[in-house]
Amino acid sequence: MPLDKNWYTEEWAGQGSAISLKINSKVHDEQSTYQRIEIYETETFGTLMTLDGLVMVTDRDNFVYHEMMSHPALFTHPDPQRVLVIGGGDCGTLHEVLKHKTVTLAEQVELDERVTRVSEKFFPELCESNNDPRAKLHFADGIKWVADAKPETYDVIIIDSTDPVGPAAGLFSEAFYKNCFRALRPKGIVVGQSESPLFHADLIRSVQKSFKAAGFRDVATLFFPQCTYPSGWWSATIAGKDAALANFRAQDAAAKTFATRYYNRDIHAAALASPEFLRTR
Ligand code: SAM
Repeated sequence: MPLDKNWYTEEWAGQGSAISLKINSKVHDEQSTYQRIEIYETETFGTLMTLDGLVMVTDRDNFVYHEMMSHPALFTHPDPQRVLVIGGGDCGTLHEVLKHKTVTLAEQVELDERVTRVSEKFFPELCESNNDPRAKLHFADGIKWVADAKPETYDVIIIDSTDPVGPAAGLFSEAFYKNCFRALRPKGIVVGQSESPLFHADLIRSVQKSFKAAGFRDVATLFFPQCTYPSGWWSATIAGKDAALANFRAQDAAAKTFATRYYNRDIHAAALASPEFLRTR
């Protein structure tokens, strides 16, 4: 049944499926140097941002993604102080990172300044930590940033990227992960969004393999729901220079001093359990 013009529909190429959100209005539309940025007001998911026609953020469900991109990595590192976010222009991940009191510096390297400026206007709650003195926003290519970084600069690197096409493709490569390894201090942790377990299992296997080939001692994938991303089921793959990822700071996670809506100690442990078809250990 065709949907009328009051629906935003993202077809999932090659998957014979799609997501539709009922919209009240389109409130922003621009072509930046890098991508088309559109903002809609939806009927039940709040504000929606799409980049090149793909859902990035909705008010209603972004907390799951942003919390899972940040807290598992930060509660795995024994003392995360210096954090780098690559991409993440909506600033939701940065906001979660800054909830950790141990963090002294959170640098974000986003390619497209317009994504951040538009988010500041339409997603103010995600951007409310941008003026935290520990936050430093840079607008540059994350691949080059990490290649140029001095060795042992960061404790945690979070790759909050778009899909592995165009400028984000290199963020899924072994060469980039080798540079992350070099840029991380001992005990360093890297985590990157790694797409849908149902639709992109080969990509997840390849990301796991590339992290290992780049020198990371332990690699694991975290699984979580994300109802507006393809298939509704999403993943982030985490790698440790030295750490055994199952031994995260569970007591600190249980006694966390800040509010979350999805993440907690038990969710963290459960998210590390692999479905049978993606089991590596
Ligand atoms: N939550 C989203 C998802 O998984 O669909 C990702 C959100 S975030 C808005 C992704 C950001 O990565 C985009 O703003 C894009 O401009 C940025 N990006 C893509 N390639 C990049 C690169 N090479 N360096 C830095 N940022 C990059």
